[in-house]
Amino acid sequence: MNHRALADDILLSASAQESPNVAITDKIYVKNHRQIGSQLETNIPKGAFKGATLDMLFQGENLAQLDDTTQERVLDFAEDFLDCDCQSNPYCGCAERKFMRYLLDLREQGLGPEAIVDVMSDDYMVYAYPGDVLSFLDNSVRTLEAVEELAAVEGDDEAKSEAREKKRTLSG
Ligand SMILES: [Zn+2]
Repeated sequence: MNHRALADDILLSASAQESPNVAITDKIYVKNHRQIGSQLETNIPKGAFKGATLDMLFQGENLAQLDDTTQERVLDFAEDFLDCDCQSNPYCGCAERKFMRYLLDLREQGLGPEAIVDVMSDDYMVYAYPGDVLSFLDNSVRTLEAVEELAAVEGDDEAKSEAREKKRTLSG
């Protein structure tokens, strides 16, 4: 297994497990969720990763009732985050992991929390509060620090430098 993938796995699973109640994906909201709800003639939850939201948005008949722009964004979201073959999709956790990977990628490209929120709104019509994105990024850096220390204790130089390098790309 390559080391970049390994550090990624550790980082993403740690972020997901850290405190399930405040996972960043619980703080990703559907933009215009009221408007979308009225197009579907039902209420959809505000949380983008809530089971009911995912169920509702991705039923073909519902999708067809949305205006073109919204439909496009919803389809992009499905393609990018819900494309796994797990039987329990969309409840398998892949979507949440992929979305965190997406946030980390934006950070690695040098974007700050507010710019990250702007990009996710443009890409998928979802938003978050920049403060929540910032906490997620801080937690990720702390997780990498822990990985680095553990690798140092175990004398795994490769994992250690990899965690350090990754931490550098995530630090502002
Ligand atoms: Zn899956």
